[in-house]
This record gives sequence, structure tokens and C-alpha cells, in this order.
Amino acid sequence: MAAPRTHRSALALYAVLLVLPTVALGVIQWRHIEREHADELAAVPRDAEDAARRFREALRAEVDALLASESQRGVAQYANYYCPDSTPEGEVTLLPTQLRSEPRPKGVLGWFSFDLAGGDGASLQVFTGGEEPAPEQLADLRRASLELHDSVRSEAWLVASAPVEFGAERLELPVRALAASRAAQGDEDCIEAERMLLANPVRMVAGQFQLRFYRDAQGEPRLVAHRHVRVDAIPQLIGATNCLHRVSEGLGLVQGFFVDLGWWAGILPREVAARVLTKRERFLEHPEGSCEHCADYHADLWLIRDLDVSAAPQDEAFGRMQIAIDTTELDARYHSRLWRFFGMGAMLFAALGTGVALLWRSVEKELEQAARTENFVAAVTHELRTPLSSIKLHAEMLQDGWTTDPAKQQEYYKRIVRETERLSTMVERVLEKAKLTSTTAHPTPCDLTELVDNHVQQLLNWRITDAPDLEFELAEDLPRVWLTKEALHSILVNLVENARKYAPVDFAKPGATPIVIATLATAEGPALEVRDRGPGVPKAQRQKIFDAFYRLGSESTRTTRGTGLGLHLVSLHAASVGARVLIEDRPGGGSIFRVTFKAAPANA
Ligand code: ADP
Repeated sequence: MAAPRTHRSALALYAVLLVLPTVALGVIQWRHIEREHADELAAVPRDAEDAARRFREALRAEVDALLASESQRGVAQYANYYCPDSTPEGEVTLLPTQLRSEPRPKGVLGWFSFDLAGGDGASLQVFTGGEEPAPEQLADLRRASLELHDSVRSEAWLVASAPVEFGAERLELPVRALAASRAAQGDEDCIEAERMLLANPVRMVAGQFQLRFYRDAQGEPRLVAHRHVRVDAIPQLIGATNCLHRVSEGLGLVQGFFVDLGWWAGILPREVAARVLTKRERFLEHPEGSCEHCADYHADLWLIRDLDVSAAPQDEAFGRMQIAIDTTELDARYHSRLWRFFGMGAMLFAALGTGVALLWRSVEKELEQAARTENFVAAVTHELRTPLSSIKLHAEMLQDGWTTDPAKQQEYYKRIVRETERLSTMVERVLEKAKLTSTTAHPTPCDLTELVDNHVQQLLNWRITDAPDLEFELAEDLPRVWLTKEALHSILVNLVENARKYAPVDFAKPGATPIVIATLATAEGPALEVRDRGPGVPKAQRQKIFDAFYRLGSESTRTTRGTGLGLHLVSLHAASVGARVLIEDRPGGGSIFRVTFKAAPANA
């Protein structure tokens, strides 16, 4: 038994050596996939902040560009101005500023300019550009500008930022560019009189535009870009007619424009988001805006803080937006990696499993075959040795004259003949098997009942019981079947022999019934049945007992003699004529061995 164990251990070792590294590699790969996914998720906050930074920079660039282009306008553009006409009459005309005719840039609601000292708002000028604004828009702009003008004294931010000295632009403009800012109704004549002074240079300093967010009197949010311009005192105008004397002490001007909040806090961020964000970076205009497949981490954007807009502390949260990262793609990639991994794993395991199973089966088969051969050798040795020793013993006894009794001598001779017959039967069986596996039978249409009937006497003669142990139930008028005489003979003799061997009828027992040999019609075709009252054959062995040399139990435990060839010959013969053999439990105990033959066509 050492060899099978070695075989199995070798196979198990092979399986382990094959499976273990595969499992280990699988675990490593799986952990790698998990870690990769975890890393990708861990990078989400960084990606969100990175997107927010890009967004912030782009937004700031847009706002800066607006302020820069507005700074290009020059101080003089924020007011109408007087111009000495070049006509011979030398009239002075009030020229409208460009801001009355130019198209309004995106984001600008309208421009304004007023004098810091002008308490009643008389100096306030409002411009809406070339397009005709809606009346309510114009009214709103006026109201906002006036409010701003009026709050010059009360709003610290408005005064505090005036004027910016450091880095401020130094300018020199002619007086005519300023005269209109303080001029009153009907000043034309006065200005006409002082026309010579209009060309005098005036020095001034202009600050940078600053953005301020505030709430107006109605609590409405407003965003204003404003700058301060300080005009130096103009000594040349001291003592001039009042219209110009008014500006002789210098001026403080506030200039700027109102920013369209809808553009600044809506259209512009949306445009920037569409331009700078990738597909997976989601722009959430409202922080509570939901994003179904986004990671939990959202990067904050603060319009006020991020764009350096000055505002009251309570307004700093105005226009808070967020950027989130959509993880749909990450998840899909993760799942596809997992599926690929499990698919590959399943395929690998199927391949490995099939390989190991096939190997296992072949080892098992080999072991089975070895056991069977071992069995056969033991059986044949036994089958040969027993008759041979019996023949030798009885022949020697006769030779040595052990008995002179003729009856006894006759018995010895009979014994020798019987044992010789057994030996020759065994040899014939082996030869029959060899012949059957190498030749083809030529079945002809035969009458099954008739062929069985021809054997009745012979079978009864071979009995070892005193009373006949066989009973025949032969059906008349069965269709003819494809058969050969040799096949029927071998099948019948082997089945009956087995029944007598493994289920002998013991007439001493009450209710003992003979072995039944029947021919009958079944749904599959005419059949031959041998029914006994023996121990039966376990279901698991019903296929195997037809294999060559297969015997139930082991040589040491068996009490019956045999080589495991009888049923194998039955199955070979059945197959050679196209018949099928099967074993069934017999109702009431025992087995039924049934051979179903192929019916031959009636005209064959
Ligand atoms: P042998 O009779 O030489 O052992 P067989 O091929 O005829 O070989 O039978 C194979 C095995 O099938 C037998 O060893 C026996 O265990 C079992 N067998 C055959 N016929 C019967 C039967 N009628 N009842 C119970 N077991 C049977």
C-alpha cells in the first residue's frame, strides 16, 4: 500500500506547489488593486484643491483683466469736459465723455464719478455706455451711485481708501478736463470768459481701482470698483471768476463702476468652470448643491476672500462655491480591475482545478487498475493453484494405490476431470476476452426464447443442488433480435453461474425460490433476465463490476472463487450485438440482471 500513498502524496504536493504560489500571487495582486484604489481616493482632496486653485487663478485673471482695462480709461473719461471751440466766435462747448457712447464691457453695470467735497450730490455723473439701458436699470444705477456719494462721509471704507499715494499714477491734465466737475448750471458764460485758463496744466494723482462688496440701504448686495483721484491746488485759478475759482483749492474725486453681480457671482464662475475644470472636477455653484457620485471632500471657493474684495466680515461668506471630484471614473476603473482580477483568477483556478482533478483521476485510475491487477493475480494464482493441487493430490493417491475401492477410485477420477474442466474454463475465458476485444461479431436476427430454450437442459444439468434450482419464464412470440449463438451462450451461462455462486438456492430454508430465467418484451426491446434472491449489488458498484477483473470485496475477505471476468465477458458480448446490460434491485430482495437486445426488423 506504500506505492498508492506515495502517488497520492506526490500529487498533493504538486497541487500545493501549484496552488499556493497562485493564491499568494492572487493575494498580492488583490492588495495592490485595493491599495491603488485607496491611493486614488486619498488623492481626491489634493485634486479638488488643485482644481480650486486653477479655478481661483482663472477667475482672478478675468476680474483683474476687467479692472486693468477699466484703468486704461484715464481719469478724464469719467466726466464731461469743456472745450474751447475752434470757431472764430471762440465759443466754449461742453463735450460729452466717451462713456456716453462706448459699449459697456461684460460685467459693468455703469460708470460714475463724483466729487468728494460736493455735499449735495450735484457733482455726481452717471454713464451707461452706448446702449440704451432699461429705465429701471438706469434708475437703479443712479440710486446706487447717489447712495455711494451720500455715504462718503459715513462709510469709513470710502474715505479711508482715498487717495492712494503709494504707487499712484501722477498725471497732468488741462484745467478744461476738470472745470465741468464743479461747474454749476449756467456757468457757460463764466467759463467762456476764462477760456484762456482752460489750457493751464493741472497736476493730479490717481489711485488704483479697488473692489468693495457692501449691502445697500435695502440690504441688496452690491459690488463696486472705485478709485480716488486727488487734484492738487491750482494757484493759477485763485482769483479767477467763480466758476474756475471753485477748483483752485484742488479736488478729491471718486470714480468707478458698478459690477453686475449676476455676472460676477454667476455667469463668470460658470464660464470659468467650463473652461478650466476637467470632466471629473465638478463645479458646485451652491455649497449645498449635490453631486451624486462625488467624493465627500469638497474644496471651498470664496468669491470675496479669493478675489481680495474688501467686505464687511459678515459678508465674507457671500458667493461661497465648491469644487468636488466625481469618482465615477475611479470607481469604474476599480471595479473593472476587480472584475478582470476575479475573471483571471476564476480562469486560472478552473484551469488548475481541472488539471489537478484530471491528474487525480488518472492517478486514481492507475491505482484502481493496479489494485485490480493485484486482485486478478491473486485470484488467478488461487484459481490455478487450487485445481492443480487437487489434481496432483488425487492423481498421486491413485498412482500410489491409496485406495483399491473402485467407487472411490471413480470419485477421484471424476474430481480430476472436474478440476481440469475448471482450469480449462478459466483459460478459455481469458482467451475469449482476448478474442472479443480483437474481433467483430456478426449478429443475425434470432429468436431469443428459442436460443434460451436450447440451453434449458444443459443449465439444469450443471446444478449443484439436489432439486432443480432454475425456473424458466420464456415469453412466446417475441420479436426477433440481433444476436449470435456464442454471445447468448456466454451471457446466459455467466449470469446463471454468478446467480448460483452469489445467490445459491438453499432449499433447506423455508420459502426458498429458484433462480428465474425469463425472456420478455420491454419498452426498449426483447430482454433476457436472470433474477436471484442473493445479496444484491450496491448501486455504486453496478457499473464497475462489468470491468475486467473487478470483484467485490478483497481477496482476503472473499469466500467465492472467481477471476472477475464473467460479467466483463457478458458486457463485451452484449456490446458486440448492440445489447445493453443493467442491474436492478429485485422487489422482495436480490438482483435482476437484464440484457436488452436490439429488435431486428420483421422482414430481416
Ligand atoms: P467473478 O464471478 O469471477 O468474481 P464476475 O465478473 O462474474 O466475476 O462478477 C464480478 C463481481 O460481481 C463478483 O465478484 C460479485 O461480487 C458480483 N456479482 C456477480 N453476480 C452477482 C450476483 N448475482 N449477486 C451478487 N453479486 C454478484
